[in-house]
Amino acid sequence: MCCIKDCNVTPSPSSKKGYCPEHQREAKQRWLAMIKAKGAASQERKAKFADILSECLDDGQVAFDACKPTPIVVSEHDNPIDDGSPVVKQWVGMEGDCGMARVLIVPANCSFAVWCRNNGYGHTDDCGRGLWLEIAPQTHGPAVQSYERNLAWAHAVGRVLSSHGIDHRTWTHQD
Ligand SMILES: [Zn+2]
Repeated sequence: MCCIKDCNVTPSPSSKKGYCPEHQREAKQRWLAMIKAKGAASQERKAKFADILSECLDDGQVAFDACKPTPIVVSEHDNPIDDGSPVVKQWVGMEGDCGMARVLIVPANCSFAVWCRNNGYGHTDDCGRGLWLEIAPQTHGPAVQSYERNLAWAHAVGRVLSSHGIDHRTWTHQD
């Protein structure tokens, strides 16, 4: 007897679960529909990840460009390794202190991190703590090394990630 209640048809020999041919077909259709739905959900999630990354790039760039670093006075000393030696040249560094900032997605195996790595936007941290996001401001010249601009960029990227519930850390280094 078919495994479906009130169905008295003889099970199909190829049905492991004991469906009759008609119910076996129905079960297969349901299974296919489920697989397709899963595929669609996965596609949708991937499209959403691309949107999030694009938002990171946009907001990061806006913050980077809008940042007005505090200018610093740079002095060149007579003896480069002795700050007490006479100053031979001085100029203003409009981009302020030099430094870097990066964003680490944690953990490295969260679905967004995996998507980023598979699409060439990141590499796993050596300790396996997370994934370094490999996107950068689309800028050239001295601004690239500006600590304040890079910090503003990383914070903006972090805000986008937070707004989508993606856990991360911001790493900064001032030269
Ligand atoms: Zn049946």
